[in-house]
Amino acid sequence: MPLDSSDSKYNLQSQRRAPLLLMYHGTPATTPSSEYSIRADRFAAHLDYLKRQSWHTALFKELSNASILPEKTVILTFDDGYADNYEGAFLPLLDSNMKATWFITTGCIGKNADWMGPPSPQTQMLTAEQLVIMAKAGMEMGSHTCSHPDLTMLSSSQQLDEMTQSKQILESIIAGKIASFAYPYGRYNENSIATVKEAGYESACTTCPGWFRNEESPFLVRRITIFANDTVHTLARKLVFADNNVSWKKMASYYYLRINDKLIKAR
Ligand SMILES: [Zn+2]
Repeated sequence: MPLDSSDSKYNLQSQRRAPLLLMYHGTPATTPSSEYSIRADRFAAHLDYLKRQSWHTALFKELSNASILPEKTVILTFDDGYADNYEGAFLPLLDSNMKATWFITTGCIGKNADWMGPPSPQTQMLTAEQLVIMAKAGMEMGSHTCSHPDLTMLSSSQQLDEMTQSKQILESIIAGKIASFAYPYGRYNENSIATVKEAGYESACTTCPGWFRNEESPFLVRRITIFANDTVHTLARKLVFADNNVSWKKMASYYYLRINDKLIKAR
């Protein structure tokens, strides 16, 4: 077991606790077929927990002025644009007076997420009409490319095409500016970071876990992944530790390091 108690990951007390970004995918009414989607009733329990714990929700684009966000701010993001998000996430958010950001794969709007295998109700995507309603209700729309490629396999010009075309399509659908981007599969390279800027986005998010850090690049914003099995208790631990793995084994390791740190300082 590593004994490097100076590892910044474990120095939680010195860090500002928020904003924190969560990454969701589908929110089906039945058992999710993907480990990245979460049943709608479980998502509703997450929202209820966030409300009871007085978490403020903000849009991804609001990170451009992160210093004015309340300390207990969570940014809920939904990748891909699944149709079951409409009833499973958008309507509950609206009811709760909360907001979120959607990263839409524009080549699949109103169709099937073709990279997810054979068509099924859970791979059906939101329609353009639904995106308009959601945007008008105060939700943010961002881009997740046209075809959901692994950007690291594409040339700079191919990456630029994916980024600019999806931006233009979304801007014409919602009749507004699209400022935010999420890298498909969380995969990017140096070209992606330069290209996303060139395409006119103001910020982009990855799937690297951790707290939002104002000093880091706005094109490499961290997010915590939410999985199908994440109960309210798991969510609560993720909000404290800003990590994807909050298993008890990991937590035991964390407390071991904290105790070890105190013993070293007490010497
Ligand atoms: Zn995706």
